[in-house]
Parts: sequence; structure tokens; C-alpha cells
Amino acid sequence: MEEEIKAIREGVRALCARFPGEYWREKDRTRTYPGEFVAALTEAGYLGCLIPEEYGGSGLGLTAAAAILEEVHRSGCNGAACHAQMYTMGTVLRHGSAAQKARYLPGIAKGELRLQAFGVTEPTAGTDTTAIRTTATRRGDKWVIVGQKVWTSRAEHSDLMLLLARTTPRDKVHRKTEGMSVFLVDMREAKGKGLTIRPIRTMINHATTEVFFEGLEIPADALVGEEGKGFRYILDGMNAERILIAAECLGDARWFIEKATAYAKERVVFGRPIGQNQGIQFPIARAYAQTEAAALMVERAARLYDEGQRPGKEANMAKLLAADASWAAADMCLQTHGGFGFAEEYDVERKFRETRLYQVAPISTNLILSYIAEHVLGLPRSY
Ligand SMILES: Cc1cc2nc3c(=O)[nH]c(=O)nc-3n(C[C@H](O)[C@H](O)[C@H](O)COP(=O)(O)OP(=O)(O)OC[C@H]3O[C@@H](n4cnc5c(N)ncnc54)[C@H](O)[C@@H]3O)c2cc1C
Repeated sequence: MEEEIKAIREGVRALCARFPGEYWREKDRTRTYPGEFVAALTEAGYLGCLIPEEYGGSGLGLTAAAAILEEVHRSGCNGAACHAQMYTMGTVLRHGSAAQKARYLPGIAKGELRLQAFGVTEPTAGTDTTAIRTTATRRGDKWVIVGQKVWTSRAEHSDLMLLLARTTPRDKVHRKTEGMSVFLVDMREAKGKGLTIRPIRTMINHATTEVFFEGLEIPADALVGEEGKGFRYILDGMNAERILIAAECLGDARWFIEKATAYAKERVVFGRPIGQNQGIQFPIARAYAQTEAAALMVERAARLYDEGQRPGKEANMAKLLAADASWAAADMCLQTHGGFGFAEEYDVERKFRETRLYQVAPISTNLILSYIAEHVLGLPRSY
């Protein structure tokens, strides 16, 4: 397995070398989707790595998927344009019917079908997912969707969307986590017929959008799993997502550390390399130690996941520690570069903006701390 992971890392690095800083700078400047990069990753089979071989994927585990995304980020690229293609299908794989799996998974594995959009967050509910207001109402052989999502990333570049909607009002269920359902919405058929997508311009090039549902009709068999169990299905996928995002953070952190180290060796001020000053060395060394420690937690979480366990504690800690490590490394790298850290051509300011996201999404640092406090340490629930 170790040899296989090493080969995967080398393969990803070679692919990423075809997409240097100039490529990402141009995309960032024009806020354009990095379609060529996504196509290359798809063709190489990396995005189908978690799909079992029987559906045309490579049937690898999360450790391999994490290595792919870490290398993408370590190479200065960004997996956010397509990482959801890797793991969003997990909900269909675990909870979908045999017919849904046969219909969708082979196309997703080949990249012919893009399942990149994940519609959970809403403007009024925020982190309080059970307060979502988007509803799905059964009418004959259709579901009718009404509501709005926000921050639905890649919706314009995806064929399918995994959507969470309320099928029973919150005041009609015993527990507020009940009464929500998951749907696989085919957006190719839906656009202009009750589905509208509007891009949101953000501080990073993320192809994120808001999505409006105005009486969109989808077929009855778009429901994934059982009606009313959607919240649990979404939670089931979150450990994988957190571990993979943590791996991206590790990649970013390592990119910042390598970049800062190289610059500190070559930049000469006061007649000596700036890296000779402990004021420059120590923050780099600290970022390195922090990143290596976070990497141990990411590896552990991925291993437990691959062993078939449900590593909620480890996945959350991995995301927290890796996001903190990447943000600390970003700050250190910018400081090491002085004024040049702000110049586009060094890529530091772009990566700095990009890695800042992980303090907020896909789950914010505060909510992870709440999880650890409540579910690991048994402290009283705070909200
Ligand atoms: C670029 C981008 C892409 C995204 N992509 C997707 C996507 O594809 N699909 C999707 O569904 N969502 C997506 N999101 C949404 C993302 O998951 C949320 O932004 C994130 O979970 C935080 O929710 P919120 O923005 O509603 O913040 P809020 O819930 O409004 O919280 C605001 C702040 O208050 C804090 N806070 C809230 N409640 C508490 C509490 N009880 N205790 C302590 N602190 C608290 C939060 O930590 C946060 O810092 C994306 C967001 C961004 C910015």
C-alpha cells in the first residue's frame, strides 16, 4: 500500500506540474473555473478513486484520496474545483438504491457525469442545518422543491446536485434532525424550469453560487434512501469530507513552508540571508512542527475510516489542526516574503486567501470545538 500511495503522489505531482502558478493566477484574476485541470485529474482517474471497482472506479480508500488532494495543494494547485466529485457520491454509494448506483456511479467514475454540487447551507439557517427552509413536497410521481440554498459551490459546473430538503416541517417531528431528505437533482433538466443558479463573487476563485428552487419538479426516484433520514445520511459523509479537506490544508501548509524556506535562504538583506535570523527561522520551524503534528492526526483519521470505523473525533480534530496549521503557515509565509508576499507573481497572496477558507468551511472552527467539548469531553451542549 505504501508503494501504491508513493506512486499516486508522484503521478499527481507530475500532473500538477502542467498547471503552474501562471495558470492559477490567470484563473484567479478572471474568476474562471479551472476546467483543464479538472479534466486532467478526471482523465487520470483520480476523482473516481473512492468509487468501487464494480462501478468503474479504482476502489481505493480515503488514505489514497487524501494523498491525492494533499499533493494537489502542495503543488500550488487547488482541489476545491473538483474535490466534491470524489466524496459526494459516498451518500449515493452508502444509501442509494441499486438502480441509482447502477445509473449514476459508472458515469461519475468516468467523469462523464459531474456530481460536484452539494446543496445544504441556506442563508437563514447557517450552521443550524435543521433550520433549513427548503421543502420537498410529494405530488403524484414527482417531488416539488421550493426554497433557496447559498454557497452551493460548482453548481454551474456540475450535472447533478445532492440536495437536502425538509419533507416534514420541523414542528411536526419528534426530533428536529428528523424529517429532512436527500435528493439527487439532475440540474441539466432543471435549469430554467424552476431552478436558477446565480454566481457569488468571493475573495477566492471558488465557483460558488446561490441556487433558487421555485416549484422545481423532480421525479419520485430522485429521493436517496428513506424519506426523513437525510440529515443522518449527510452526517455520514462528513467524516470523509473533513479528512479530505484536512489533507488539502496539509498540502497548503507544506507549500507555504517550502516556499518560505526557499525564499529565506536566497533573500539577502543586511548582507546575509534573512533565514539566518532566528526571527525568520523560528516561525518557519514552528509551522513545520505544527504541520507534522496535524499530519499524524489526518493519517490516523484516514486509517480508522479505511478500517470501517466512524472516526468522528479524529476527523474533526484532523480538520481543526490541519486548518490551523495551514493558516499559521500562510501567515508565516507572507511575513517571510515581506512586501513581495503581496505581489501576485509569488502566488503567496493567492494561496493565503485560498487557505483562509478552511477556518470557515466546510465547517467552522468554532463548531468543531463545540463538537469536541460536547461529544468528546461531555461538556454541556452550548447551543
Ligand atoms: C467559499 C465557500 C464555499 C462553500 N461551499 C459550500 C457547498 O458547496 N455546499 C454547502 O452546503 N455549503 C457550502 N459552504 C457553506 C459553509 O459550509 C458555511 O459557510 C459554514 O458551514 C459556516 O456557516 P455560515 O456561513 O452559515 O455561518 P454561520 O452559521 O452564520 O456562523 C457565523 C459565525 O458564527 C459562528 N457560530 C455560529 N453558531 C455558533 C455557535 N453555536 N457557537 C460558536 N460559534 C458559532 C460560526 O463558527 C461562524 O464563525 C461554503 C462556504 C463558502 C464560504
